Amino acid sequence: MRILIIEDEKKVAAFIKRGLEQESYAVDVVEDGVEGQHYAEVNEYDAIILDIMLPKKSGLEVLKELKANGIKAPIILLTARDTVEDRVKGLNIGADDYLTKPFAFEELLARLRVLMRRGSYGAPMLKFADLSLDPATRKAKRGNTEVELTVKEYALLEYLLRNPNRVLTRTLIAEHVWDQTFDSETNVVDVYINHLRSKIDTKDFTKRLIHTVRGVGYVMKEE
Ligand code: CA
Repeated sequence: MRILIIEDEKKVAAFIKRGLEQESYAVDVVEDGVEGQHYAEVNEYDAIILDIMLPKKSGLEVLKELKANGIKAPIILLTARDTVEDRVKGLNIGADDYLTKPFAFEELLARLRVLMRRGSYGAPMLKFADLSLDPATRKAKRGNTEVELTVKEYALLEYLLRNPNRVLTRTLIAEHVWDQTFDSETNVVDVYINHLRSKIDTKDFTKRLIHTVRGVGYVMKEE
């Protein structure tokens, strides 16, 4: 899952980014409204955290235009001013939630999880065939075997499980699992798919779940 933070207060942005990365999200940070809106429009984010007070263009203006342009990612507003007026305005324009600064990271994380579940993200426990992944504990299980995953392996498996039976191109995978610093010239996606296979798709299991679509990407399906 990839998240965009539009926030000019470096400390706040860094605090959120660090926390989210520890939870295995890919995170981009942008510091003003104009660039933030551009990022939100050219990339496919799973959620956007948008500060109201921003240089160049206010968060409320960015929100209004993103909604007008059909951006579907859920948006959480951050506001330093705990005024009813701002919140009401934001929610009326189409914000999905808001947080008043200062807030605990756990609070933000809880709200994000609710929003991403509310979208196309279904039940909390992700399952496919005899494979399951619990986003709350971040543990995977294939049959009766528990599997330990690194942060990136978790993010990759979560994305595959949220899109079963759909051919996912390397670009699409990279866009949802890696952030803006991802170098598309590398074979990082293939490397991580191989890591994942070595844990959840070994010979010990009768059915293979992650399949290569030659020249395109990967699909999670039962043969
Ligand atoms: Ca600000």
